[in-house]
Amino acid sequence: MQKQRICILGSTGSIGVSTLDVIARHPERYEVFALTAHSQVQKIAQQCLEFGPRFAVVANEARAKELKEMFAELKISTQVLFGSQALCDVASADECDVVMAAIVGAAGLPPSLAAAEAGKRILLANKEALVMSGQLFIDAVAKNKATLLPIDSEHNAIFQCLPSTFQRDLQVSGIEKIILTASGGPFLHRDIGSLSDVTPAEAIAHPNWVMGRKISVDSATMMNKGLEVIEAHWLFGAAHDKIEVLIHPQSLIHSMVSYSDGSLLAQLGNPDMRTPIAYGLAYPERINSGVEALDLSQFLQLNFFKPNFERFPCLRLAYEALRVGGAAPAILNAANEIAVEAFLSAKLGFMQIEAVVAETLGQIASSSLPDLTAVLEIDQEARQFASHTVARMGA
Ligand code: NAD
Ligand code: MG
Repeated sequence: MQKQRICILGSTGSIGVSTLDVIARHPERYEVFALTAHSQVQKIAQQCLEFGPRFAVVANEARAKELKEMFAELKISTQVLFGSQALCDVASADECDVVMAAIVGAAGLPPSLAAAEAGKRILLANKEALVMSGQLFIDAVAKNKATLLPIDSEHNAIFQCLPSTFQRDLQVSGIEKIILTASGGPFLHRDIGSLSDVTPAEAIAHPNWVMGRKISVDSATMMNKGLEVIEAHWLFGAAHDKIEVLIHPQSLIHSMVSYSDGSLLAQLGNPDMRTPIAYGLAYPERINSGVEALDLSQFLQLNFFKPNFERFPCLRLAYEALRVGGAAPAILNAANEIAVEAFLSAKLGFMQIEAVVAETLGQIASSSLPDLTAVLEIDQEARQFASHTVARMGA
């Protein structure tokens, strides 16, 4: 069997590290073609030492110089590149078969789209890329015969519960509803009145999953689930009223599909991203991911309830952005990235994240987004507005 050559965008992050963990279990199937990191030079150097990729990409010239010096010392022959064009180049290179899109936030859009345009198999963790570009991304995948496989655990679960013939049409497949499960994050039961006092350390302490800082804050506000509702819309062609969110604090059912005959199909597993990553890497086959199966004899509890929009106003905003359509999801995403960053650097209160996003959504006119330039323009405009709003509201 020919080895699959993999590019990992964001290899030093939580998803990137889990991807390398799965790859290391199957050296006969996979080889690493390129790794990319933003700032963690030491960490990517270690990864290159272990996996020997052709290319390593970092953010800028200074970090590239630092990495080259480490490579010289460690006698590593990996070629060092830097900057955003280099991310697109490695993601679309002829010698690359599979791209794991695991950069956090809008920075991941250009290389993920480049991978789609080059017809790659894309393992999509970077939900923000799809939320921002929506139709543009889906069209690029279809036009260039790329394969888009969801890695976000909920969407991966749904994908596993869909018929193999599924063609992005719920009705044709007899699907009533897609049910996204959500843990509810660390503040599910905290007194609503005290949410404005939440600290960054409290917000990133997720009860079930170990993840990067941005997605951890998004889980605490449930904006993460909101982004996932929009992601599900684009991945599965589901209208907003066909996507339901259900809180399931144990995170053992990763999502469900409800069929018109009364069947409810669910995917269960331990909360460990190596399961969806291994699924995406080997699809349609199954390989060892290093994750143990659930032991159902252990009297596991499975509880479910509907989310409270008072507690989680960001979830309502995301539904609203999806309903409005056009550029609204891109504006929502950009404002959220700015607000989360401000919260993490103690410039904004936890409950003000929603206020910044709501105000930005209300003020920036939604336009159509025919190409990447238009998406990046509206992203910039929303970021600027949100930054001013943070400066006005912030601590
Ligand atoms: P993380 O913060 O741990 O890692 C982010 C990666 O992106 C790092 O490798 C970093 O170097 C890179 N990066 C950051 N900013 C960059 C920039 N401006 N340019 C280039 N590279 C940059 O994040 P994570 O938890 O691994 O999440 C990555 C993506 O996967 C996010 O979109 C997240 O929503 C999604 N996701 C993560 C999980 C999870 O369990 N961690 C689950 C589902 C989806
Ligand atoms: Mg998820």
